Formats: sequence, structure tokens, C-alpha cells
Amino acid sequence: MEPTKLYVLPQLPYGYGDLAPYMSEEQLRIHHTVHHQAYVNGANAILRRLDAARKENADIDIKATLKELSWNVGGHLLHSLLWRNLAPPGKGGGKPGGKLADLIEGEFGSFERFRREFTQAAVSVEGSGWAALTICGQTGRLMIMQVEKHNTNVYPTFPILMVLDVFEHAYYIDYKNRRADFVEAFWNIVNWDEVGKRLEECMSIKR
Ligand code: MN
Repeated sequence: MEPTKLYVLPQLPYGYGDLAPYMSEEQLRIHHTVHHQAYVNGANAILRRLDAARKENADIDIKATLKELSWNVGGHLLHSLLWRNLAPPGKGGGKPGGKLADLIEGEFGSFERFRREFTQAAVSVEGSGWAALTICGQTGRLMIMQVEKHNTNVYPTFPILMVLDVFEHAYYIDYKNRRADFVEAFWNIVNWDEVGKRLEECMSIKR
């Protein structure tokens, strides 16, 4: 296995200070360079361990290894999605348009109703986790996914259109323990163009 077959911390599509005042430079910098980086490093360390064990045909604790791998890979992939579905205030925020807006209205009745359900999903995640907007390949329905940790309660195979991280590390510098205030702020920096683009991409995939 080549060393390139490992995870890499993606660059942010904006500057660390660009999401202020909804997400401060310090908060975003630590979140990206410390927390996200830790999942990249964690996943890569396990992959290297697996490579080594396979090379030597050595025994490993498969159950513990896969659990740890799922946590780290999930963390890396979800953060990679998150950075792209955020945008500086002005470019981000507001309401979605196009097909995404139609689907939201068809499924939830109104954007306001969707926003309320997504907010409640994010605020009520037990412990650490994520709220995600997904779409079912079988029914074509938008569905909210409330992920515990990075990998529990996931609908298998559903593409993710939008995520919000509600681990305390995502907001403790800016909002202390006030998760609901952070979730409210999120609506000002959602990159609806990106969410709409992901919808187009996954609707073109046949399932
Ligand atoms: Mn995070």
C-alpha cells in the first residue's frame, strides 16, 4: 500500500476569520487544526497498523480496531463535509433555492418547518454528535439524520447534503455550553449553493 492511500486534512474554502461573528477565528482554527486533524491522524494510524499486521500476517483485535476506525473515519469525513457547507455571512445564510427549496417544501411543508426540525435534531443530540440532512435513494425523500458520536444512528448509504457538528469542541470557545445559540448562529453561515450542488450530484446517481 502506498503512503498516498491515507487521509489528508483538507484546506478550508475560506479564511479562519471569515465566518465571524458566528464562528470566531480561534474557534474555527482549533476545530480544524486540532480536532479535525486528530481524526485524520487517528484514522491513518489505524490504517498503518492494519497494513503492518497484514504484512506480517499478525493477529489484531478486529472488533476494537474497526470501532476505532469507524470513529476516526467518520469524524474526518463529516468534518470534510461540514467545512464545505459553511460560507462567510453574506454568501451563506438565507434560504435555499431551486430544486432543494422545492424538495424541502414538499417534504417538510415549509423551510421554516425544516429549520425547526433540523434545529431540534441538532440541539437534542445525546452527548456528542451531528445533525445531517440526507436523502433516501429508495424513496427520494429528504430525511434528517441525528448522528451520535460520528457513526451511530446513521442511515446506511444515504448521501449527506448538509451537516452540523454539535460536539462541544465545535462551539465551547464562542458559546460556552450554549449549544442552542450555536445552532441558531449556524443558519447565518449555511452554504446553500453547496448543499444544492450535492443534491444535484446525488440525484444523478442511480440506486
Ligand atoms: Mn468537530
